[in-house]
Amino acid sequence: MIEVLHEERKSAVLTPSSLACLAHMPTINLTAGCAHQCRYCYTRGYSTHPGEGKIRFYTNTLTKLRAELARKRKKPVAVYFSPSSDPFQPVPDVLEMAYDIFTFLLDAGIGVAFATKGMIPERHRALLASHAALVRGQIGLITHNARIATAFEPNAASPEVRLAQTAELLAAGIAIESRMDPLLPGLTDDEDSLDGLCRALASAGVRRVAASVLFLRPAVIWSLRRHVTDPTMLQPLLDAFVVKEKMRIHAGKSVVFSLPEKNRRAILGRLGAVAKRHGITVQFCACKNPDIASGTCNIAGRWDESAGGSRQLSLYEGR
Ligand code: SF4
Repeated sequence: MIEVLHEERKSAVLTPSSLACLAHMPTINLTAGCAHQCRYCYTRGYSTHPGEGKIRFYTNTLTKLRAELARKRKKPVAVYFSPSSDPFQPVPDVLEMAYDIFTFLLDAGIGVAFATKGMIPERHRALLASHAALVRGQIGLITHNARIATAFEPNAASPEVRLAQTAELLAAGIAIESRMDPLLPGLTDDEDSLDGLCRALASAGVRRVAASVLFLRPAVIWSLRRHVTDPTMLQPLLDAFVVKEKMRIHAGKSVVFSLPEKNRRAILGRLGAVAKRHGITVQFCACKNPDIASGTCNIAGRWDESAGGSRQLSLYEGR
């Protein structure tokens, strides 16, 4: 059960992100914390996290967004949802707000980019489909194994549902990719697991995947130890991190514990080879792996070669 704290947001709605991939796009979090409660979620370590089993829902986001955009001389080309939460959490208030804000932005000709592990309700899917040229999405899927997904992502949509909605949104003409983030060392990074997942994604029509390997913060280690009670899942994961190294991510502002570089390279190489057999291209996330990857993982989609428009992406139109 998730406790929903209702609060008025005092700070700005449109915020810049520290991720290089989002450097040119304003972002919106509808909540602090996320009802999906993924056991590996990095946001547990953030100072704004509301605590275990809670989310902070901002009741005035749309009102403030309208006011902020009205004051801007140039409107954003697109907005990204959400750097530290998920717009499709199974909470009625959140889903209602997502629908209203997406409608407002799309009606204003402003694009919507999102990443989600949630169940996208039918009316939201219909809204996105009716504005396909203005929508980009990454649907997160770390495994096609339902047992592992339930253990690590207890409130997210099942792999089956995520694959089905991926196929549906792609068929509607929306630029949808998949996001394997995080790959779980010792659990989901072996060749058979990667092959099963890539096969399922290819069947859904996916051609591009962004990927990264789990890294650890103290709050994530605590969460894994507390919530992943099946030792056949927890132990191989912890064993994989017996040798780990400190790494600076997000422009050096945050220190995390990662697998050694050679281990991450090996996983990336394995995934790339498997994905290629299924006609899928993989981009490793450079924001989280600055030592071995470069370029963008396309988290907010490409806006300069779209199905419905050819507008160049910059933070504000006309710049
Ligand atoms: S869906 Fe994303 S933001 Fe939500 S709990 Fe899972 S990893 Fe965190």
